[in-house]
Amino acid sequence: MLVEQDSFLKNKLKEVFGYSQFRGNQEAIIQNIMAGKNTFVIMPTGAGKSLCYQLPALAMEGTAIVISPLIALMKNQVDQLNAFGVNAQFLNSTLSKAEINKVKRETVSGDVRLLYVAPESLTKEDTLDFLRQAKISFVAIDEAHCISEWGHDFRPEYRKIRGIIDNIGNLPIIALTATATPKVQLDIQKNLQMDDASVFKSSFNRTNLYYEVRPKHNTKKQLIQYIKKNKGKSGIIYCLSRKKVEEIAELLRVNDVKALPYHAGLDSHVRMANQDAFLNEEADVIVATIAFGMGIDKPDVRFVIHYDTPKSIEGYYQETGRGGRDGLEGNCLMFYSYDDIVKLEKFSKDKPVTERDNSKLLLQEMASYADSAVCRRRQLLHYFGEQYDKDCGFCDNCVHPKEKFEAQEQLVLALKTVVQTNQRFAIDHLVNVLIGVKSQHVDSYSHHELEVFGAGKEQEPQYWHSIIRQALLFDFLEKDIENFGTLKITQKGENFIISPHSIKFAKDHNFDEEVKQDEEKEESQAAAGHDEVLFDMLKALRKKLAKEMNLPPYVLFQDPSIKEMATTYPTTKEDLSHIAGVGMGKAQKFGKPFLELIAKYVEENDIVTAADVVVKSTVNKSKLKIYIIQQIDKKMDLEEIASSKGITMPELIEEIEHICYSGTKLNLDYYINNVLDDDRQQEVIDYFMTASSDNMAMAIKELGTDDYTEDDLRLMRIKFLSKYAN
Ligand code: ADP
Ligand code: ZN
Repeated sequence: MLVEQDSFLKNKLKEVFGYSQFRGNQEAIIQNIMAGKNTFVIMPTGAGKSLCYQLPALAMEGTAIVISPLIALMKNQVDQLNAFGVNAQFLNSTLSKAEINKVKRETVSGDVRLLYVAPESLTKEDTLDFLRQAKISFVAIDEAHCISEWGHDFRPEYRKIRGIIDNIGNLPIIALTATATPKVQLDIQKNLQMDDASVFKSSFNRTNLYYEVRPKHNTKKQLIQYIKKNKGKSGIIYCLSRKKVEEIAELLRVNDVKALPYHAGLDSHVRMANQDAFLNEEADVIVATIAFGMGIDKPDVRFVIHYDTPKSIEGYYQETGRGGRDGLEGNCLMFYSYDDIVKLEKFSKDKPVTERDNSKLLLQEMASYADSAVCRRRQLLHYFGEQYDKDCGFCDNCVHPKEKFEAQEQLVLALKTVVQTNQRFAIDHLVNVLIGVKSQHVDSYSHHELEVFGAGKEQEPQYWHSIIRQALLFDFLEKDIENFGTLKITQKGENFIISPHSIKFAKDHNFDEEVKQDEEKEESQAAAGHDEVLFDMLKALRKKLAKEMNLPPYVLFQDPSIKEMATTYPTTKEDLSHIAGVGMGKAQKFGKPFLELIAKYVEENDIVTAADVVVKSTVNKSKLKIYIIQQIDKKMDLEEIASSKGITMPELIEEIEHICYSGTKLNLDYYINNVLDDDRQQEVIDYFMTASSDNMAMAIKELGTDDYTEDDLRLMRIKFLSKYAN
C-alpha cells in the first residue's frame, strides 16, 4: 500500500509539477497530512513548502483550504497553479460579489482543488456556512508564525483560526513557516491546539550564504564599491523607508548601476514592471522595502544588502534567504548602526504595550547579533533553536576573527549570578546584579545581599551582556521558553561552576573604534598623496602626445586630473571617466595610452589599486545641467537661460564650464558669433593654443580687457576646450 502511494505521489509530482524527486522532508510531510494527522512544517525560505500542501490537495478528495496572510501572494500562487492546469481559486476582499459566488459554486461542486482564503474573509458567517456545505480535505496555514505575538509579524486575526476550523468540522491541519524561534514554535502549536502534531523541522543552515555586518559609515560609497565589484550580478537592497528606497535607487542609477525601486507607494503597474525587469534581468539591482520578495523565486540573486538595520533576526534571515537559492554564490551584507535600532524603537512607541515590548526584544537580539564577534551562522542557527557546534569558517567573524580573551572567571561569575537569583530573571537584571546597580528589582528581592552583587563592577554592562550571551550560545545557559527572557542554567553550566576550565570568548565589535581606524587609514592614504613616479611618467606621456597632436598639454588632461590618476590608478575607461575633470568624452578621446601606462605600472610595481570609486552625488544640480544642455541644443540665448533659472550670467557660465570639464561637448557658436567677430575669436583661440595653461587670470592679463569681457574669454575657453579637449 505504502509503496503504491509512493509511486502515486511521485507520478503526481512529475505529472503536475514536472519534478522527479522530492526535496528534503516533502514526501514524509505529504504522507503525514494524507494520513489525516496534524502536521507542522518549519522550513527555510525557498526549501519548497508550498508543494507540501499543494500536492496532497491534488491527491485527496475534496478542497483544501489554504490560509495565507497576503493577498498579493495568494494571487501569485493561484496564477502559478492555474498555469500547471490545477483548479485553484482565492476568496478575498478584491473579488466582486459575482466572482465570489462563482468560486463558492465551484467549491461546493468539488471542482476546486485549493481554495486560498485570507483570515479576515474566514471570519464572515456566510463564508463559514458555505465551507460547511463543501467537502474540505484539510486546512493549510501558511506563514504560521503570524499566530505568535512573540514573532516578528503578528496578525491578531490569525489567532482566531483554530476556532473557525472547529466550526467547519474536524479537519487535519498543516501549519507552515520559514521563521520560528523555539518560543514562537511552541506558541503556534499551543494556539492551534496541535501539541500532538508531527513536527518536520529542516535545517535552517544555508551553507552557501556568506554573512557580513559592517558599521554604517560612508555607506553610499561602500555600497557602490560593493555593487561595482559584483557588476552584472543580480542583487536586492533592502531599505526601511520608501524615501530611502527612492534615494538609493537614484544614487545607483547616476553611478551607472541598472537599479530600480520597489515599494508599496509606487503605482501598481510601475511596481510590477520593475519587478519583472528584475526577474528578466533588464535590471541588475532592485532597491526595495521589505514589501518585496515574498513569493519571488529568482534563483540567482547573488547579493542581498540590508542598507538599514532590520527590525528582527527573523526578518533579516528571511530576506537574506532570497540570496543564492540555486545553491551557488550568495552574499549577505548588512549595514548596522545603533541609531537605526533607536529609530526603530521609536516607530513602535504607539503600539500596544506587549507588541512594543516584543519589538524591543527583537531589536535587542538584532543589535547583539550585529555587535557580536562570534560566528554569524552559529548565532543565527542558535536563534532558531538549531544545534550547531562549530564555527562555520564562512562569515565575516570567522574570516576576520577578533581577538579572544580568557573568560573562565567571568563565566563562573555569570553562571553563579543566575543560580543565586534562583533562575528567575532575564539578562538585564542579571547584568544589574553583576555590576551592582541598585534597581527596584534588586531592592525588592534583596539581591544586593548576594555574594555576586557588584562582583563585576569594573566592567561595562555591555561587557556582561556579551558574556551572558556567549554563555547562552555555548549552552551553559538556556532560555526558559514558557517565561520569556528568563535564563536557566544547564547541566553543562552547573558542571562548569564545579570544575571550571580555561575558555576563550570573543570580544564584541567596537564599531565606533573600527570606524575611527578606517578613517585614519583613509586620511593617511590621502596625506601620502599621489605617486610621484607615476605622476611624472603621465606628465611625460601627456607632453609627448600633445606635441604629436599639436595641442597644448593641458588640453588633454589638466594637472589635478593627472595627480588623481597617480593616486587612484584607474585602469578602465569607466574608472578614468570618474576622475575630476575627465568625463567619458575625454576618457574615450585621450584615455587609451594613459590607461595602458597605468596598467603596466600597476602590474610592474605590484600595486594594490584602491579601486576607490568616486561616488557621483544625486543633488538636483544635475537637473539644472540637463536643462542647460537641452537649451543650448535648442540654441537658446544664454541670457534667457540664466534668467529663466534665476541665476546670473557668470553663474551660468560656471555651470557650462562644469559641463564642459566633465566631458560633454557643447556648441556655443550660435551665441559667440553674435558677441565676437571672427578675428577676435581667432586671436583668443591662438592664445589658448600656445598658452601653458588655461588659467583665466593669465588669459585676461595677456589679452587685455579692452577688447574682451571676462565672460567672453570664458565662453571662448569653453569653445576651445569643447573643440580640442572633448
Ligand atoms: P518556500 O515556500 O519554502 O519559500 P517554495 O514553495 O516557493 O518555497 O519553493 C521554492 C522553489 O522550489 C519553487 O521554485 C519550487 O517550484 C521549487 N521546488 C519545490 N519542490 C521542489 C522539488 N521537489 N524539486 C524541484 N524543485 C522544487
Ligand atoms: Zn562563521
